Amino acid sequence: MKRDKLIFKLLDDEQQRQEEGIELIASENFVSRQVMEAAGSVATNKYAEGLPGKRYYGGCQIVDEIETIAIERAKQLYNAEWANVQPHSGAQANAAVMLACLNPGDKILGFDLSHGGHLTHGSTVNFSGKLYQSFSYGVVKETGLIDYKQLEKVALKEKPKMIICGASAYSRDWDYEFIRKVADKIGAVVLADISHPSGLIARGLLTDPLPHCHIVTTTTHKTLRGPRGGLILLGKDFENPFGHKTPKGEIRMMSSVLDMAVFPGIQGGPLEHIIAAKAIAFGEALSEGYMKYIVQVKKNAQAMAKAFVDRGYEIISGGTDNHLMLIDLRNKNITGKAAENALVNADITVNKNMVPFDDKSPFVTSGIRVGTAAITTRGLKEKQMEQIVDLIDAVIADPENEPSLKKIRKKVHKLMENFPLYRDKSSV
Ligand code: PLP
Repeated sequence: MKRDKLIFKLLDDEQQRQEEGIELIASENFVSRQVMEAAGSVATNKYAEGLPGKRYYGGCQIVDEIETIAIERAKQLYNAEWANVQPHSGAQANAAVMLACLNPGDKILGFDLSHGGHLTHGSTVNFSGKLYQSFSYGVVKETGLIDYKQLEKVALKEKPKMIICGASAYSRDWDYEFIRKVADKIGAVVLADISHPSGLIARGLLTDPLPHCHIVTTTTHKTLRGPRGGLILLGKDFENPFGHKTPKGEIRMMSSVLDMAVFPGIQGGPLEHIIAAKAIAFGEALSEGYMKYIVQVKKNAQAMAKAFVDRGYEIISGGTDNHLMLIDLRNKNITGKAAENALVNADITVNKNMVPFDDKSPFVTSGIRVGTAAITTRGLKEKQMEQIVDLIDAVIADPENEPSLKKIRKKVHKLMENFPLYRDKSSV
């Protein structure tokens, strides 16, 4: 086969971009070589609809072993009773849970997208807000912390069938126990989507939702540092009474209803190459090396938050308990969009983000979201967090000054040269 030079040249360019720049997108990370190798492996050739031992295709004996290892490792990592490793993404995992637990038109209650929630938690532009009647809770304006009183008030008034907790841009821990108590008053299912802080939760650095929430979903590619994908977990509620009735009138276990919601509910064949990569990533996340890494992710986020606050930046809720922070730039007289563009010109990658009670549109925004998962994989520590905040501050102070941005870009490249990525065999 003739090599597709065009695409491989672009992939080389992308690798160079990742190596040279400072990656601060809170949902990104750099996977290990072995995770990447598995994701690009022969398992991509295999159809395996169904579950290990119960497939609709022949020749699945080896991928059955791979998927079984992935399931067992996921259960060990999160201390879960049951896992489905097949969702192609976080959005698919959430779609499967909703298909399993809800009927079209049912009410759901999730964290407001504009306060830091995710599209799949009930946004009107997403299936979750189109198929279901969605309600939301937000943060308290003065503190930036989840407004649990509002959550309870809306829950008791609207009696949603599902309460969703978890976020894409919230830097604090969650009170899952309180949310479960509210849900129990109205007979609602609690879904915790831990996509962002997944690795911190797995290694005990944040509150574990599994003892409290009926169902937990996560992506595998953020703090967890696996391939792009999704995962569904159940704790002690795996035999809960929300299971659907079979035609014979028997109550199905939640786990089997969820398995069927993934396939045949919303997906076809599972991506066994990605499942192999997930199995490797779960194994890595159980290691001592990953424990050191994830502790450093949190230390770096705290060092970075302090450096921003010291330079007069407003962090929503005043700091962080996890790997990310949301910065309101209104006192710096720059929009999220302008800041993102200027920073990208200096090879510092962040994303613009709505802040709670934002007066600008999602295309402009008043804030940026910054995370430390990716740069910590490259080996950066607290000292470099200060340096990075100085570089960001210099960009934001003079965002249209091309010669200045060029100088900052050079400094960015120089800093990152000391933290090699895939070009150096000893890294990642
Ligand atoms: N849930 C949360 C909380 C997220 O932050 C994200 C992605 O950013 C998702 C779900 C969706 O994940 P994916 O992009 O893999 O569909």
